[in-house]
Amino acid sequence: MTNLTADTTCDVLIAGGGVAALCAAISAREAGVSVIVAEKAPRDMRGGNTRHSRNLRVAHGEASVLSPGAYGAEEYSADLVRVAGGAGDETLIRALVRGSETVTDWLSARGVVFEPFSRGRIPWSRKTAFLLGGGKSMLNALYAAAERRGVTLRYGASVTELTGDGVARIVCGAAFETIAAKAVIACSGGYQANAQWLRRERGAGTGGLVNRGTPFAEGEVLQSLLKLGAQSAGVAGACHLVAVDARSPRHDGGIVTRARNIPFGMVVDRSGRRFHDEGADPGPRHYATWGQLIAERPGQKAILILDDVAMRGRFPAPFPAWKAETLEDLAALLDMKPDILKHSAQEFGHLGSPPYWAQPLCPGVTFTCHGVRIDAQARVTLRDGRPCEHLFAAGMIMAPNLLGTGYLSGVGVTIGAVFGRIAGESAARHALVRPPTGAWAPR
Ligand SMILES: Cc1cc2nc3c(=O)[nH]c(=O)nc-3n(C[C@H](O)[C@H](O)[C@H](O)COP(=O)(O)OP(=O)(O)OC[C@H]3O[C@@H](n4cnc5c(N)ncnc54)[C@H](O)[C@@H]3O)c2cc1C
Repeated sequence: MTNLTADTTCDVLIAGGGVAALCAAISAREAGVSVIVAEKAPRDMRGGNTRHSRNLRVAHGEASVLSPGAYGAEEYSADLVRVAGGAGDETLIRALVRGSETVTDWLSARGVVFEPFSRGRIPWSRKTAFLLGGGKSMLNALYAAAERRGVTLRYGASVTELTGDGVARIVCGAAFETIAAKAVIACSGGYQANAQWLRRERGAGTGGLVNRGTPFAEGEVLQSLLKLGAQSAGVAGACHLVAVDARSPRHDGGIVTRARNIPFGMVVDRSGRRFHDEGADPGPRHYATWGQLIAERPGQKAILILDDVAMRGRFPAPFPAWKAETLEDLAALLDMKPDILKHSAQEFGHLGSPPYWAQPLCPGVTFTCHGVRIDAQARVTLRDGRPCEHLFAAGMIMAPNLLGTGYLSGVGVTIGAVFGRIAGESAARHALVRPPTGAWAPR
């Protein structure tokens, strides 16, 4: 421990402001320690990607008001093992599934409201519980619960560096601050908003990507942990991608920009050529399949073309489709060779009557699949295999421990909530036994 004078001291410092951070903060505070949450976003943008979420995946032995059928622990574990392709840590998978069994009760007791499926306003789901009002409502309830319990909330507070002894350097506007904590929990998500980092790891094929979530996910805390010797989990540069409208904002387009109509039309690349069977997978996995496929095309762009019948039956979309009366006009509009586009239409076979409608597509990053390794107490593991006693991690920054580069709908919020709780309790236990020391004397 360095003999450092800090601007502020606390028992547990939490970097982040999404579901993982809030669950960690509430758990730690309920265990009797002082807690500061440093959220990089301003108050009106607080909550990271959690703001965009709708549901969470929970194990339950029988039907309930939240779900019309059972989803047992074994089935949940098997689903996780499958999507992780052997990369998931079995101890952590068991902890997640077990924790998911009580997570809706835990959240409800802290003000979060769920939507009974019988109201018919949400998609039918046996495996997930839906949040009434979505992720923002959950966050509002958790922030209020944290405040009521005496958690100190700092907004616009970016943790830029962690040192090996529990000191965090924070930038708040133009001001610098050091906070010395007995334990630090990293809940800062991925680095999907950091175009430079993505380009470094993914190479030139990155320019066409948009970030579906928070612009504050730039990965400073992850970078700092890796610099301190944390063992990494997942694959550097790997991302969960889905196909979105290419006119989406650079950040924060959320779920409405997803390209929902691919199974009803023909998809071509910038030259007008098809590159995959559009009807191969009409289920919910097609978003991710097409996100990956488009990321591999030149310029990371593609065009969805619908005939008039498909256009009339399509899901609502936030951007208008482009219209052309003939395939030649459409080719001119899209700057493609008409012969190539016509050949693609012939090969596709069922592009029916005009007019034709087009929608530009690109890959949208939901999250990066690269984080830090943790143990069952959510302690960050160092490269030599030892756990770091006072550094913990929860949420997407450690999700690759369970998922590798895979994903299951609703599991992101569950990982945040379950490991947030575990990290909060572990960090509080550590802080309570750590002897007081002059090292944290305020300046
Ligand atoms: C469009 C979209 C829809 C989604 N829908 C679902 C869904 O329905 N169900 C589901 O389970 N998952 C969903 N996900 C994934 C889910 O949102 C995440 O897995 C989950 O919310 C992650 O929680 P988290 O707390 O780890 O990270 P986040 O919620 O992203 O929070 C990270 C926080 O860290 C803060 N931060 C970043 N850097 C710093 C720093 N240096 N210092 C301080 N703070 C920092 C950010 O401001 C943010 O508050 C969706 C994601 C997107 C993008």
